[in-house]
Amino acid sequence: MRCSACDTPAIVDQPYRAAHACAPHFLRSVEERVRAEFHRQLPRFGRGTVAVALSGGKDSAVALFEAHRYFGRRPTVRLVAVSVDEGIAGYRAATLRAAADLAQRLGVEHLVVRAESELGTTTDEAAAGMPAAIPCSFCGVWRRRLLNRAARDAGADALVLGFNLDDLAQTVLMNLVRGDLDRLVRMAPHRSRQPGLVRRIAPLALVPEREVYLYARLRGLPFDHAECPHAGRASRNLFREVVWRLEEELPGTRQSLLRTHDRLVDRWLAADGAGAPNTCRACGEPSAGELCRACEYLRSIPASSVPAGGT
Ligand code: SF4
Ligand SMILES: [Zn+2]
Ligand SMILES: [Zn+2]
Repeated sequence: MRCSACDTPAIVDQPYRAAHACAPHFLRSVEERVRAEFHRQLPRFGRGTVAVALSGGKDSAVALFEAHRYFGRRPTVRLVAVSVDEGIAGYRAATLRAAADLAQRLGVEHLVVRAESELGTTTDEAAAGMPAAIPCSFCGVWRRRLLNRAARDAGADALVLGFNLDDLAQTVLMNLVRGDLDRLVRMAPHRSRQPGLVRRIAPLALVPEREVYLYARLRGLPFDHAECPHAGRASRNLFREVVWRLEEELPGTRQSLLRTHDRLVDRWLAADGAGAPNTCRACGEPSAGELCRACEYLRSIPASSVPAGGT
């Protein structure tokens, strides 16, 4: 296998574009895609604050590294990394150490928000209190809430998320299969800013998951490989397998799913406009309905397992 650009030995194949790449051309191809996405998703951004969600895993490590490359030389842009501690024993502590290590290496301000103090509960406690629920459903909603609030409090104009091509293709397919068009058009990357919601962007949108991993390894970024103990129950696992199967048989499926999403959002914006979200009557955060999903989940935990102080 030789590099399609320079004919030296290749280290990775990219069937979706019928190419192979050596290490330098691979690194350059990732960086070019990410830079183009920053430019497309956050055009003409030269002044302000950019928050980066930093979990300590490979995707957010690459997202922070790339945000630092892209914005680091602009003195008028402040970069801040935000980590959420959901309270997951045997998992989160190591990822938070990796996150702190990377932020320190890059010299980026790092904030850690804890679910226990912000919400009055943790993912572990809620999972124990609601054994029939899939933990990722409430954990993901709470994390989005905490990230948005922390980014907003930090004065951020945009929140960078480490979603890669596989993540986004899975999310598009999940929302299509569920017929959840509202969530489909609201998913990151956001086209516009909505009241109370920091605009979420996803600069790794065109980088497949295995290329994110390879990039993080080649650049020597610190990240933690551990898998969350609750992850096995996530419905996303099925969609991950389906997208893999489709991609194997039909290379380019993931990019097609993202294009489908883009076109649907175009049509939705043209027909409907970006209607302002409601405000949750319990917590005041943006919400699709009267009560936001974060509050709905907090209220569904049996009272005996919620310590005092919940939202
Ligand atoms: S895998 Fe699920 S439960 Fe674990 S941190 Fe992610 S969203 Fe939360
Ligand atoms: Zn090459
Ligand atoms: Zn609420």
